[in-house]
Amino acid sequence: MNILERYHAMEYGPAPEARNEADAWLAGRDFSKALFIGGDWKAAGGGKTFDTSEPSSGKLLAKVSDANAADIDAAVAAAAKALPKWSASSGYQRAKVLYAIGRAMQRHQRLFAVLETIDNGKPIRESRDIDVPLAIRHFIHHAGWAQALDRDFPGQKGVGVVGQIIPWNFPMLMLAWKIAPALAAGCTVVLKPAEFTPLTAILFAEICERAGVPKGVVNIVQGGPEAGAAIVNHPGIQKIAFTGSSEVGKIIRKATAGSGKKLSLELGGKSAFIVFEDADLDSAVEGLVDGIWFNQGQVCCAGSRLLVQEGIADALIAKVKTRMSRLRVGSPLDKNTDIGPLVDLTQLDRVKGLIAEGARQGAVCWQPDATLPSSGYYHLPTLATGVSPANILAQEEVFGPVLATMTFRNTEEAIELANNTRYGLAASVWSENVNLALHVAPQLKAGVVWVNGTNMFDAACGFGGYRESGFGREGGREGMFEYLAAKLPLGPVIKQATSSAQPVEQADGVAIDRTAKLFIGGKQVRPDGNYSLAVATAKGKLAGEVGLGSRKDIRDAVSAARACKSWPEATAYNRSQVLYYLAENLSGRAEEFAARLTELTGANAKAARDEVELSIERLFLYAGLADKFEGRVHQPPARAVTLALHEPVGVVGIVAPDNQPLLGFISLVAPALAMGNTVVAVPSERYPLLATDLYQVIEYSDVPAGAINIVTGRTAELAGVLAKHDDVDGLWLFADADTCAKAEAESIGNLKRVWSGNGRSLDWASEEAASDVFLRRAIEVKNVWVPYGD
Ligand code: NAD
Repeated sequence: MNILERYHAMEYGPAPEARNEADAWLAGRDFSKALFIGGDWKAAGGGKTFDTSEPSSGKLLAKVSDANAADIDAAVAAAAKALPKWSASSGYQRAKVLYAIGRAMQRHQRLFAVLETIDNGKPIRESRDIDVPLAIRHFIHHAGWAQALDRDFPGQKGVGVVGQIIPWNFPMLMLAWKIAPALAAGCTVVLKPAEFTPLTAILFAEICERAGVPKGVVNIVQGGPEAGAAIVNHPGIQKIAFTGSSEVGKIIRKATAGSGKKLSLELGGKSAFIVFEDADLDSAVEGLVDGIWFNQGQVCCAGSRLLVQEGIADALIAKVKTRMSRLRVGSPLDKNTDIGPLVDLTQLDRVKGLIAEGARQGAVCWQPDATLPSSGYYHLPTLATGVSPANILAQEEVFGPVLATMTFRNTEEAIELANNTRYGLAASVWSENVNLALHVAPQLKAGVVWVNGTNMFDAACGFGGYRESGFGREGGREGMFEYLAAKLPLGPVIKQATSSAQPVEQADGVAIDRTAKLFIGGKQVRPDGNYSLAVATAKGKLAGEVGLGSRKDIRDAVSAARACKSWPEATAYNRSQVLYYLAENLSGRAEEFAARLTELTGANAKAARDEVELSIERLFLYAGLADKFEGRVHQPPARAVTLALHEPVGVVGIVAPDNQPLLGFISLVAPALAMGNTVVAVPSERYPLLATDLYQVIEYSDVPAGAINIVTGRTAELAGVLAKHDDVDGLWLFADADTCAKAEAESIGNLKRVWSGNGRSLDWASEEAASDVFLRRAIEVKNVWVPYGD
């Protein structure tokens, strides 16, 4: 045997990480008093506990207090009590606390890592080298944001008491992603870890005690869905931040509808791992190991769909199989282990069930020849080939060590396959041609794209999804906004529209046959039902009629908006010129619009002229900002740059207000257009003629067909159709509270981004109504990670 042969024949010896410190911590703690509320350790009011056990053996680790609704009440009360002082404390004071947490965690880094591995089953290499260091980095990074709050977020303030609910797959990291930005923003929190993995959060609460976090600023409650639901429904909470499954995310969206609570949802995924034929295959294979077998595949952004270009598919699959055969499955505390157990028996059974169903649907499932430990919830890494795009393994989030493989012929097909999912969390693109990779990245419907890499995270770079992967971002600047609220000058409560009750009789000189049509796909079209709606003047006479839009008209308008590719693909400079041109053409008809405002709203001549002038000014503003509200470049502590790109949300439905009907309409439509969205707008039900009068202005302004669609009619009905339409990506409503609440509840089909004034109007003439708040709503931030160096 020569040296090389000997080397290859060598076996790994066991290299277990010591667990005595963690065991001593477990033995020394009273877990029946595990609720950290107002700085005290409390038993659950109902006296109940739940079990947490060790996935590698199934052995019980602790019986942990299970909070009931009264405990959640107490935690919210403690957070509310602590809020005034904490939110009024200086950024520097909060920065010191965040930094102290980070430093204290650093001192107990090893205990955190071992405890995380014992409770969750993830390999110690991962908890030691990734989860815990990243969590620490999060606190230290956010110390800076606390101090930079006034400078970097003018006009914003912390939302208040925040309820946070996290999953079991990255217990410590998810806790850090939630708590750090909240504290930096001056919020106080009630956080609930997942019931499978309560332990590191308890240790974290101890750290809070030592790091000088004021009592009540951080409250950590333990329990399952019931405790979670009590947080979601608690009236004393101003924001819910949730990470977990899309199913529960939808329940939460519905439960919070109409409550005025701010909401961010970080949900599941089915991320594509795209390998082009010019990729470095060995690197791609290592990437795959990280992409899908990291944390046993129990990763929201796992690269669970391998899309490989046809010509290299066999070669890549052969390499993947060889590499899979070398993955070491075993004790998660062993430093050589690549794959530990799944978190729980239920999870193991679920994964097995999905594989069996995938196989039944035609997939060929391959596993390396390895023996599993005799106890614990282990599962072999699994490769599924021959997977059709409709196979359950290609569509459903398995949340286990299962890779589904498909092939593609060319770039267009790769993009189409990658986007063929209801999720949109992440994607990896592998090619040695950076031009190709950066051509593909913007076309992927995913919040994070890694070029020649995978699963890279950093506190400075936003993370979060498109579509059913949820909304909101965690990390960096955009993550801070999730815990801040703009100080918008909200006006009086909006009453339900009453146009049907308008007594109408013909005004002098108005021809009744001048019924304004709808504006869809660049054309003026009759409403599907051929009905119209009478519009009254301020004096109660008939001013004209507009089409009574219906479900079918909204559907046509959404199709036209979706089909309009030239607007989102236009350069920002192009869009800016079109918006300037709109402003110019509106200005040419200013007198006419002012007269219309006076006729309809009764505004005096000066007020009407001012509103028209301000509308023109606003178009000018957003024309100018179209090519200025840009993304950023982050420099994370890795050999990579992260391009935080601003992308349009997509098709945005806009339900415009009655007050200042021209200015309100333009203040909403213009920023959406400026950022490259296509729009389906429902103008004020009471004053729709101000929008229909714009048709000609739009037609003369080079706006591409389908970029703006206008459907007049009943606000509540049309808002409901927009909310339920799964091809609408965002919905902005300035309507009555009932319409807003229903729209939020009905938006869960595709988890569209709903933004409403919760039934309050806005002073559209105010400075705040022409601010970045609108532009931020008009974009998704996509973080594209581009590595450098050899
Ligand atoms: P889950 O949705 O079942 O549970 C998540 C949390 O919600 C737990 O704390 C649970 O107790 C709580 N919960 C359950 N029902 C609730 C209800 N009705 N009301 C309020 N709270 C409730 O998810 P899970 O199985 O713990 O975690 C796995 C999921 O999390 C996967 O889908 C994964 O993709 C997702 N995830 C997403 C991200 C992300 O950043 N996008 C990160 C990690 C995990």
